[in-house]
Amino acid sequence: QAKDQGKNQYEIYTPSITNHTYRIFTLKNHLRKAIEFDEFLLHFQPRINSQTEEIVGVEALLRWYHPTFGHVPPNEFIPVAEEDGQIITIGEWVLDRACEQNKQWQVLGLPPIKMSVNFSVLQFLKRDLVEIVRATLDKHKLEPIWLEIEITESAVLENNPYILDTIMKLQGMGITIALDDFGTGYSSLSYLRKYKIDTLKIDRSFVMGIPQEAESFEITKTIISLAQALKMNIVAEGVETAEQLKALSEVDCNEIQGYFYSKPLPALQMEEMLRGKTIKRIN
Ligand code: C2E
Ligand code: MG
Ligand code: MG
Ligand code: MG
Repeated sequence: QAKDQGKNQYEIYTPSITNHTYRIFTLKNHLRKAIEFDEFLLHFQPRINSQTEEIVGVEALLRWYHPTFGHVPPNEFIPVAEEDGQIITIGEWVLDRACEQNKQWQVLGLPPIKMSVNFSVLQFLKRDLVEIVRATLDKHKLEPIWLEIEITESAVLENNPYILDTIMKLQGMGITIALDDFGTGYSSLSYLRKYKIDTLKIDRSFVMGIPQEAESFEITKTIISLAQALKMNIVAEGVETAEQLKALSEVDCNEIQGYFYSKPLPALQMEEMLRGKTIKRIN
């Protein structure tokens, strides 16, 4: 079954590569040249305030377009880049471009928004992360409050004092920290006492079942209450339908991200949307 899925996914752009190990080996090698050959691009997906329908932020999402493989999805190449540590260089490139873009929109006079950037746990284990982030913000003269760093639960669960220290230093600078794909990781929530996480992003797998699946909806409501009690901002990921939006707004989910409002967009299209500031809904 996995083989069938793999085949469907690859045959569009790489009919010859069927062997999984070979595919990874090849991707790894080509990834090393992706920055130099200018094959990466950022797309941006808006995060919307559910009450005002204003764009409060965007998430930067990395795109890789290879001349022969075509578009390789991040869910495929990010794990490959993590395997051999390339994600550190790639992550720095993403941060640099995301900050540059956010500053550029501010210079154009658009309403300021928060830029969310996904970080791999490997970036947190690197000793000079705080210095790199500080230098990047300085370089683009971007105020730290306009940057949010998204990490997955596995990062905070490493229970590594160095990661905790790094997160606190970043927050001390004014950067906010979001916990991505929340609910899919581990069952213990004890780390929420130690880490003062600013934002919880409810994973799409829960949002998908709302409102018809009682379990998904109950879990979502519980996550929202938890976030409210701990004074965290809450974002629902992967909102695709008006029913999901309505149900989430009714239970006070403050921010919404998903195809219902917009897919991740290239910079220019995102800029046009920012000019309108408030999303115009189709239905
Ligand atoms: P993520 O950080 O959880 O990002 C959300 C993903 O959900 C994105 O997939 C986005 O396009 C997709 N999405 C958003 N709304 C909807 C919706 O309504 N329906 C559906 N079906 N999907 C929706 P994408 O861009 O393919 O990225 C996948 C993952 O790759 C990201 O998940 C993130 O974990 C990782 N990733 C992407 N860019 C970067 C990056 O620059 N650095 C790192 N370390 N990871 C990244
Ligand atoms: Mg994310
Ligand atoms: Mg996510
Ligand atoms: Mg994810």
